[in-house]
Amino acid sequence: MTKILTEKPAKILLGCLAAFITLIIASIQLVGPEAFAAKADDAEFLYERTSMVKNQIAERGISDRRVIEAMMSVPRHKFVPDKYITRAYDDNPLPIGYGQTISQPYIVAYMTEVLNLNKNSTVLEVGTGSGYQAAILSPLVKKVYTIEIIPELAKSAAVRLKDLGYTNVDAGIGDGYYGWTTHAPFDAIIVTAAAGHIPPPLLEQLKSNGRMVIPVGGSFMVQNLILISKGKDGIITTRNLIPVRFVPLTGKHD
Ligand code: SAM
Repeated sequence: MTKILTEKPAKILLGCLAAFITLIIASIQLVGPEAFAAKADDAEFLYERTSMVKNQIAERGISDRRVIEAMMSVPRHKFVPDKYITRAYDDNPLPIGYGQTISQPYIVAYMTEVLNLNKNSTVLEVGTGSGYQAAILSPLVKKVYTIEIIPELAKSAAVRLKDLGYTNVDAGIGDGYYGWTTHAPFDAIIVTAAAGHIPPPLLEQLKSNGRMVIPVGGSFMVQNLILISKGKDGIITTRNLIPVRFVPLTGKHD
């Protein structure tokens, strides 16, 4: 995924951001989503995660407090292969095997924020990968369905998510181009692999007033992150957000 570069912020802004992050960490410790991953966390990674949230997420404009809390609470180092554990909080995607990647933290936060989720939302993720994006969604919504086409990745992510206590996530194996009809319709859909076009089955499985975020473009071309909104009347509108680089959405439709 594309690395996002930002301009050097003014000192005063840095001070405010540091105070903001400190406040959030304190609130997580006091009343935060204890039911989720913090309990499985290792203290040694707390500093790295705090820096990640401050420097890569908050300073680049992610402002939804709940998204920031989720990024702060999920132990990203538990979602990367052991050999990359010391790089888990780096500002880039990392390999997770089978030619796939765990996305850059900023992109995960950005895609989550634009979906405008709430506690009653039911979300479909296409492209489970490591399970990290599903874990970030978990504390923000009622239910997460995540589907992965590579069986080995799907199985290991399902075990990881269960072991870490993300009880509202269902992980399945399948071709997400066709969505997950059994559980449709969804309030939001997030596709974490680049499609050549917007899959019509996913549009059908999006509720009225729902939102979908999806990278669109070929493997060796510029891809655009697209935000799709479905109006009350079923009318679809699309908006180009930012250029990105994702692994391709594979499957029979290809
Ligand atoms: N969201 C993941 C995470 O948090 O680790 C990262 C996703 S990775 C960039 C893209 C994933 O999409 C890969 O694991 C890939 O196997 C999967 N994928 C590709 N095509 C797919 C399809 N048609 N249906 C479901 N998953 C697919």
